[in-house]
Order: sequence, then structure tokens, then C-alpha cells
Amino acid sequence: MSTLNELNQEIAGCVLCEIAKYRTNTVPGEGPEDAEIMFIGEAPGWHEDQQGRPFVGPAGHYLDQLLASIGLTRRQVFIANVIKCRPPDNRDPLPTEIQNCQRWLDHQIEIIKPKMVVTLGRYSMARFFPGKSISKIHGTAVKQGNTILFAMYHPAAALHQQSLRQAIESDMKKIPVVLAEAKSLPETESEPQQLSMF
Ligand code: URA
Repeated sequence: MSTLNELNQEIAGCVLCEIAKYRTNTVPGEGPEDAEIMFIGEAPGWHEDQQGRPFVGPAGHYLDQLLASIGLTRRQVFIANVIKCRPPDNRDPLPTEIQNCQRWLDHQIEIIKPKMVVTLGRYSMARFFPGKSISKIHGTAVKQGNTILFAMYHPAAALHQQSLRQAIESDMKKIPVVLAEAKSLPETESEPQQLSMF
């Protein structure tokens, strides 16, 4: 069994939060263990909870279209969320839930070692860019260690707001360029380094 499958089994048994009682399935995330890019959303919604898969509802269909706009399919990237259980009534994740779930996301990143982490929405951004505002930093990249961090709006928000839709679509198009630039940079220590072109 792969390391990610083992981790998924551990996640499936997690009962650290109250919301574990209400889930149909845990939604650990999916994609190849050697994915170069990892997209990290907020939390599973109803569709994701039913299927145990991330981003399979309307926001997920839009994410598929965004990926297609840069020549990728969801099978080529790893898609995960900050928390692995659906918050009831689709409420925002609580700080304790994010904290309890952090170990799983950290472990996934350790296994996958993505070249690029793309945060989708505020909760995911807060985990990687603490204290920053999404309206200021979306579409910008920093290199931390050997990983590029890139912040985007959440596809669910962009789906219904024209101005965010334009922003998310043009930010998505930067991903291949950022990835290529970052690969050409020397390996760095853990100090964040703003990438030059964005
Ligand atoms: N929104 C998210 O943040 N994650 C999902 O998996 C689905 C919708």
C-alpha cells in the first residue's frame, strides 16, 4: 500500500473534532504521490462528503475548467483541503478544526513534496501566508525552501462574482510561468523569497 493510502486510512479513523460524528466520508484529497502542484482548498462540501473526493461539486467543475485552461487535468495535480471533514451546513471551519487537521495536510506535503502549493481561498491562504490579505496577494508567488507558494481566490467565490472570476482566470494562467521560473532558481534555505516577475 502506498504511503498516501496509509495516511488516508489514518485520516478516515480521525475523531479529533466534533464534526467527525456528522461526516459521511472523510475527504483526504487525491492525486499522484509525485504531483508537482498541490491545490489546497478550504473544506469539503456536501458533494465531497458524499463521495469522499475533493472538489467534485460546482466549484470543482470550475476548478477542472481552470486546470484545462493551462493544459492540466485533475489527475496530474494533487487536490486537498485544509480540513478533511465537512463542516455542518457548510459553515466556515473553526480554528480548532484547522489546528486538529493540520497534521494531515503537513504529512501530505511531506510525502508529495510538491514544487508548488496553490492556496484556494482565505483559509488555505492563512495557513501559508499568515496575516496577509487575499485581495492584496492573490496571483503572487513566494519561494519558501524549495516550494513555491501561490495564492488564488476560491473557485466557489469566483464562480459567482465577475471581478473575482477575471482575477482567478488570469492568476491561473500564471502558474506554468511561475513554476518554470522557480525551477530555474537555485535551491534556497527556508527564508521566503518573493519571485521577481509577479
Ligand atoms: N470547496 C472546498 O474548499 N473544497 C472542496 O473540496 C469543495 C469545495
